[in-house]
Amino acid sequence: MLPDYHIHTRHCGHAEGRAVDYAREALARGIKEVGFADHLPNFYLPSDSPYGYLRRPLDQIEGYLADVEEARRRHPQLTIKLGVEVDYLPGKEAEIAQALAGLPLDYAIGSVHFVGGWSLYDPEYYRRFSPEHIYKEYFAVLHEAVSCGLFQIIGHFDLPKLYCPPPRPMLELAQPALESLAASDLCLEINCGALRAGLGEPFPGYEIIRWCQGEGVPITLGSDAHKPEQVGQGFASVKKPLMDLGYHEAAVFSKGVRSFVPLVGGSSRQYNKL
Ligand SMILES: [Zn+2]
Ligand SMILES: [Zn+2]
Repeated sequence: MLPDYHIHTRHCGHAEGRAVDYAREALARGIKEVGFADHLPNFYLPSDSPYGYLRRPLDQIEGYLADVEEARRRHPQLTIKLGVEVDYLPGKEAEIAQALAGLPLDYAIGSVHFVGGWSLYDPEYYRRFSPEHIYKEYFAVLHEAVSCGLFQIIGHFDLPKLYCPPPRPMLELAQPALESLAASDLCLEINCGALRAGLGEPFPGYEIIRWCQGEGVPITLGSDAHKPEQVGQGFASVKKPLMDLGYHEAAVFSKGVRSFVPLVGGSSRQYNKL
């Protein structure tokens, strides 16, 4: 099975299980490579934010790092990459860059969870603002996340659809964030967490994926697992649509250097591609 590059652990505070539990589950499912992408502690969240209780000091990452190391020790037959999922906040690039530089990471996923001082998981946000406003603001911040140069992967590209159907075709709403993605060196994450939430297609939807394929944007796959049994979940249902759209490989990372594995085929050999 394909590498799962978006796995959380109990260290983020809202997931279950240790890295070893996810590793064991991955091996049981025939997965050869996983990437942990627990949240980088968001110590840079403004102290006056109503979500200030979500703030975590950077040194909390130590438990996560030790946990991933333990999984590597106990499951040497599984390739285990170390990543983080970063809450992108405009204006906090220097803090994020400094934190990332101090970590032995294989990759960082940039994700937008906060827009204009609101959490995208706060139901009040969707009561207070129109869908048009929500998507405009979200994609403006995502555009900045894409162009800031701090990440290798852009996470759950059209996240607001989880709570708010798009008022117009997503392709329209997502411009110019898509244009900047195509011009960047970033991978688009195919995040299967949307399937678990009952949305019927991943983040992003297939129209966006089709557009990105046409522009040569590489992809990674992620389950956004928050429980060990969710590792690799949804991959079987997205693989054929991805191939039908023209994708034949998924990106993997070692210390920020990208290579590719085929989506199907007998060989799991990695190859570098310029
Ligand atoms: Zn996320
Ligand atoms: Zn996540």
